[in-house]
Amino acid sequence: MGTVVDAAAKKEANGSLADLNPTVVFVLGGPGSGKGTQCANVVQHFGYTHLSAGDLLRAEIKSGSENGTMISNMIKEGKIVPSEVTIKLLQQAMLESGNDKFLIDGFPRNEENRAAFEAVTKIEPSFVLFFDCSEEEMERRLLGRNQGREDDNIETIRKRFNVFLESSLPVIDYYNSKGKVRKIDAGRPVEEVYESVKAIFAPKNEKVMGHCHALMKCLILFWM
Ligand code: UDP
Ligand code: MG
Repeated sequence: MGTVVDAAAKKEANGSLADLNPTVVFVLGGPGSGKGTQCANVVQHFGYTHLSAGDLLRAEIKSGSENGTMISNMIKEGKIVPSEVTIKLLQQAMLESGNDKFLIDGFPRNEENRAAFEAVTKIEPSFVLFFDCSEEEMERRLLGRNQGREDDNIETIRKRFNVFLESSLPVIDYYNSKGKVRKIDAGRPVEEVYESVKAIFAPKNEKVMGHCHALMKCLILFWM
């Protein structure tokens, strides 16, 4: 950190990301609201790359990074890891993906995350997909899913709910005031929720198809 080489590398990374002008959708919602599950569906049908901030942090712990212990302790407590760490992981993953369309899942988690991401990457999300789900249902899913996560115990779950209400909902309010929130009733079965999610991503594609059809008509007229 802090060397001239690091600074140059950082500048280059930011430069190429900004040059890429990527499409970013933030996928937000409480723990257990179905963000990961629905993102997998969007990846299959709409060609986005799914980046879960939580998964990137867990991979960072596994890689034996110097930040590993700090990240692990924060996750066990349901606390928010410093923006700097998460943003660096997201930037790296975006650059490595080779794609220019991203679903960023579980980030930004507070106002500081949001402001830092926009300041560092110069990227504004196209929109925010918000999975709205009752705490009762989220708790049921988290306790039932058994993915071996150290934070899926009732004590940490309660803390994660509190952090979501206090720190993450204000981020959703912020984007709502900019007209960027697409709210989904996420308390329903997976397939039903996906029907609503699909409807949000699909219109854009229809527009693209519309342009293709118009272009085809021009070409046909030209040939005649
Ligand atoms: N986390 C964080 N910053 C992020 C994303 C995740 O600090 O941007 C930490 C936080 O401690 C959170 C945990 O990782 O409670 C698990 O996050 P994940 O998104 O995987 O869980 P979810 O809320 O989707 O169940
Ligand atoms: Mg998740």
